[in-house]
Amino acid sequence: MYDGLTTKYTFACPERGETRVTLSGFRRLERLPGAAHPAVYSVHFACVCGGEHVGLVSHDELDWAPLGLGSGATFLNLMTARLEVLDSELAELAAARIRAGEWPWSFFCYPENQPRPVFPSSFFLLAPSAGAVGVAVRCPACAQASINIVSEHHVDLPFHNDREVGVVEHVFAADAARAIEEFTAELHSAQFDARRLALE
Ligand SMILES: [Zn+2]
Ligand SMILES: [Zn+2]
Repeated sequence: MYDGLTTKYTFACPERGETRVTLSGFRRLERLPGAAHPAVYSVHFACVCGGEHVGLVSHDELDWAPLGLGSGATFLNLMTARLEVLDSELAELAAARIRAGEWPWSFFCYPENQPRPVFPSSFFLLAPSAGAVGVAVRCPACAQASINIVSEHHVDLPFHNDREVGVVEHVFAADAARAIEEFTAELHSAQFDARRLALE
């Protein structure tokens, strides 16, 4: 379902049958109650057909597949013209970079006033914002929500961290429904402050 070469997820589209979406095309992520191993997330995503649909993604596909650690990451070997498993090589590379202190994804936690490493499963709302992406992140360390304004690459490509991100100076409501309202309002008000992401 996740393709490491194009960094896209495949979902069903009622118009086109199948569609491919980058992480930055996600709009809302919600962990489904019940399934724990692996956890399953429902994803509302913006489709190329112009509509917004819902699909399901497992925790593994969300956080590990982009690092080559999930199952089913394959690539086309042009020498042998065969699909080969990408897992081991990419995974070793990812592990080496993490050991060296690089993080695949990061964000600026506003309540804690510091950058933090994060995984895509902590993103819960995304919206396009003037050529960039507004992303609401639930902090894995303090559990509070922050909104960062980042590039699409910052979201889509592991180990691509913007050197500076926009931070909305607002502490969000704990309940999801109110957070969504506040998120939308804040994105449109464009009260951002640039913060440096120096995680290395
Ligand atoms: Zn569609
Ligand atoms: Zn935090």
